[in-house]
Amino acid sequence: MEAQRTIDDIRGKVQSLKKEGNTIAFVPTMGALHEGHLSLFRLAQKHADEVVASIYVNPEQFAPDEDFEEYPRELENDLAKCEEEGIAEVFAPTDEIMYSGEQYLSIEIEELNEYMDGGSRPGFFEGILLVVNKLFNIIEPDFAVFGQKDIQQFRILQQMVTEFNHDVELVMGPIKRANDGLALSSRNKYLNDEQRKLAPGLYRSLQYVGKQISDGAKNVELLLEHQKNELEAKGFKIDYLNLFSFEKMKPVVKPESGSKYILAGAVYLGETRLIDNLIIEK
Ligand code: AMP
Repeated sequence: MEAQRTIDDIRGKVQSLKKEGNTIAFVPTMGALHEGHLSLFRLAQKHADEVVASIYVNPEQFAPDEDFEEYPRELENDLAKCEEEGIAEVFAPTDEIMYSGEQYLSIEIEELNEYMDGGSRPGFFEGILLVVNKLFNIIEPDFAVFGQKDIQQFRILQQMVTEFNHDVELVMGPIKRANDGLALSSRNKYLNDEQRKLAPGLYRSLQYVGKQISDGAKNVELLLEHQKNELEAKGFKIDYLNLFSFEKMKPVVKPESGSKYILAGAVYLGETRLIDNLIIEK
């Protein structure tokens, strides 16, 4: 299968699909497709007649010291996977296409990006909102599928859809994991053998704390402190490990019953940053 490279080309293809009466589900990705992405494709297929994917490593969401240059790019391989999954169209633009001409405008985010990845990666979610806003305007899908893996992204995009009146329904796909529990990620390729063996430790810590909270543990801070120390002793560097409210994405010390929370962590193994989370409904 061939990717559509220009905005006119992908628009033409998507319009033809719509004229034939098809509903469209859209799955944006940065490529280096793994089973997590494929699980989103399959979920998208359940919601709409045809699935459109994008493969684009968006420079706007990488800080200068991040891994934009090293990020794996495997377009031919990815296209073969898309074909196998029955994806109708793939949009794989260049930076010149996505950011052609003067770019005078940006999107600001308040509140929802103060903590978690928003706190650690300034400008990250602004870059994501910018590109997803463009992609939604180009594809105009009926549904768009994103992973729980990037739960703050989902929450902020949900807010964008509401505040900017995008006519699209967002769908969240569960986190696909390796057999040992590690959340699949294109960045797992950076891990050496030793780091790969350690990596599921993050999920195990989240599971442990999650169970304690669900069982009614009172001192969440102490529990988290203990897990951070354990992870550090194993060789992880902790960015954050905390309980956050689902609505505001802000740290919570005392979870209350009837509310929804996210237990989330970001850690480094060497230079590689891993994230993971659990949704906790009290
Ligand atoms: P990325 O290519 O990393 O930008 O991810 C594209 C989409 O795939 C995002 O909506 C991610 O949340 C989602 N995703 C990434 N990893 C996983 C995973 N392990 N399971 C399910 N979805 C994932």
